[in-house]
Amino acid sequence: MTTKSPKHLTSVCVYCGSSFGSDPAHEAAAARLGQLIAESGLRLVYGGGAVGLMGTVARAAMECGGAVTGIIPRFLEKREVMLETLEDLVITQTMHERKQLMFQKSDAFIALPGGIGTLEEAVEMMTWAQLGQHRKPVVLANINGFWSPLLELLDHMRAQGYIRPDTEVPYLIAKQVGEIIPMLEQTVARGPSIGGEGVASTEEL
Ligand code: AMP
Repeated sequence: MTTKSPKHLTSVCVYCGSSFGSDPAHEAAAARLGQLIAESGLRLVYGGGAVGLMGTVARAAMECGGAVTGIIPRFLEKREVMLETLEDLVITQTMHERKQLMFQKSDAFIALPGGIGTLEEAVEMMTWAQLGQHRKPVVLANINGFWSPLLELLDHMRAQGYIRPDTEVPYLIAKQVGEIIPMLEQTVARGPSIGGEGVASTEEL
């Protein structure tokens, strides 16, 4: 599965909740991110649903004339209310196929606030990067500190010796949605290394 680093950013995958959560800033961030992706001429790749923040980001991108690819497994068509208006909708047989396709079709990954599904998807991209299977950047969109507990856990793992100091911990952190695309463009333009100064400890958040 190893892929080279993307040379140019053409598509970004957004992982986010299939619910709205309780902080209205999350929905606003999802809408703004969808707009910014479209305005930047990037393709949005996402889970294909119409519900929660997933639906918000996709509809916002489409309303701004952006290209959107939705990838949904057949068994979730109803539960996540497949967004029928998508020009590019891929229906897979399994969740594994969905995740693999989302990975293949994207040059970078952004995690907005979400639940267990979002967490799993984002962490999986981090683990694949840590194992040298790809060099595509992963950004945690830390809107109102949503991901701070995860960042504390990562610091704890580091302090306890489970993330080795020589490991390139493969994630970037953005506090505002507006920082994300410039951050990704710079990272991709810079080439192979995806950790470096983008990796913050919790004190910096
Ligand atoms: P959630 O963050 O739980 O609201 O889920 C967000 C998205 O992640 C939805 O499209 C879910 O279908 C998807 N999802 C749920 N569980 C998993 C999983 N184990 N792996 C990957 N994606 C998942």
